[in-house]
Formats: sequence, C-alpha cells, structure tokens
Amino acid sequence: EKKFILAGNWKMNKNNSEAAAFVNKLIGKIGNEEKIDVILGVPFTSLEKIADITSGTNIKVSSQNMYFEESGAYTGEISPDMLKDINVTHVILGHSERRDIFGETNEIINKKIKKSLEKELTPIFCVGEHLEEREKGLIFNTIEKQIKEGLNEIEKDEINKIIIAYEPVWAIGTGKVATPAQAQEVHKYIRDLLSEMYGEEVAQKVTLLYGGSVKPSNYFGLFIQKDIDGGLVGGASLKEDFIDLANIMN
Ligand code: 13P
Repeated sequence: EKKFILAGNWKMNKNNSEAAAFVNKLIGKIGNEEKIDVILGVPFTSLEKIADITSGTNIKVSSQNMYFEESGAYTGEISPDMLKDINVTHVILGHSERRDIFGETNEIINKKIKKSLEKELTPIFCVGEHLEEREKGLIFNTIEKQIKEGLNEIEKDEINKIIIAYEPVWAIGTGKVATPAQAQEVHKYIRDLLSEMYGEEVAQKVTLLYGGSVKPSNYFGLFIQKDIDGGLVGGASLKEDFIDLANIMN
C-alpha cells in the first residue's frame, strides 16, 4: 500500500532559527506517527540543521532544487552529492516557479531528474498548466509534454522512485484551489499516461501529489480522490496549518 504523503514547500522563507523552532514544534505533535510520510522542502541554508533535528522521526527533508552536474565550475549551484552528504532524501524539481522565473525547461528538468535517480535522491517532479492553457483547452497537451519530456529516457524500473506533483499554476499562492473534480481529472490523466508509457501496474504505484492553495479547510475533498496520494503544500506549510494537516491525517 502506498503511504499518504504530506509534503511542504517553504520556498524562500524561514531563516535557520525560525526553521528549527517550527520543526521542533511539528515533531512534538507528529514525530512518532507512522501513518503518513511528511516531507519538508527547506531552503538550502537550513537543510543540514533540519535533517539533524528530524533524524529518527518519520519526517524527511527535501531541497527545492539541485544541479545536474556532480561538481565543478557552476557558481551558485548545489550538487546531489552535497545534498546526500547532509542526509537530504528528496528534491523538488521542475516547480513552476523554477520554470517561469528561472527559465528551467523540460530538458533541464529531465537532466536533473535523471541525476537525482542516479544519486538515489527521490525527485518530486512538478507539472501543471497555466490559466491561459486551461482556458484554451490545452491542459492535457501541456501536461503530456511536461511528463513525456521530463521523463525522457527514464525506464520502467525507475518510475516508482519518482513522486509526481500536479500543481496547476493558477492555484499556486492564489487561494484559488482546484476543485476535487478538477484535480482528480488531471491526476487520472497523468496516471493513464504513465500507464501508457510504463504499464498499468507501475502506473498504479506512482505517488501523485496535488499542490495549489491546499489548507486544512479544503484538503479533505481533494485527498479522498482516487488518484490523489497526498499534497504539496506551499503557504500553509509555513505555519500552524501544516501541523494541523499533519495531525488530521495521521
Ligand atoms: P501554495 O500552497 O502556497 O499555493 O503553493 C503550492 C506550491 O507551489 C507548493 O509547491
């Protein structure tokens, strides 16, 4: 059975002491529970500290990006080995903010996913359409291109090591959450596409997260959907709301 996943993405928020205070509080509430996996997407500067604090709990630590080379003259970048060295287990890749603000293409994201798998970091691979694409009826075209190009050259035996997050861009940070039916429709599309690419058995095992304005007040309708295996939470992961979400689900 797949474990339900509650993942947070702090984005560019929290300094070290704020991060530690928050996570200590979170552990106090949920640290020893085993029903769900909690993953925290932490800024680079707090990864080591948070990995230390959470060691021995069921909270896992994720970076929000990494580079696809191992080392060398790549000023400002962080390698997968650097992350592994401080016990980071997951890496968020292809977030819409990386795509839209920092110009990451499907091809770059594909290189990062392949490198993360090679280094045994679990990628949380994000896809999602913009409002304009939705309005033009291009949701599935957009998602298909992101999935097929993002997973280019990734073989069947690797696909269950990847977490995929559907985050409609129009729902990110806007308070405009997708309805459970809207989210389920795209999750089912993604699962069917994976089934076409890798076979039904493998596709059923892939963990598919929904992200975009998830809060304690709206999570329930989303998370009971057949093809939604958890959430990737931005704004609400910075505060008490995340502790509430973790509590309710455990
Ligand atoms: P919000 O929950 O703030 O909408 O952000 C979602 C997100 O981008 C998580 O990666």
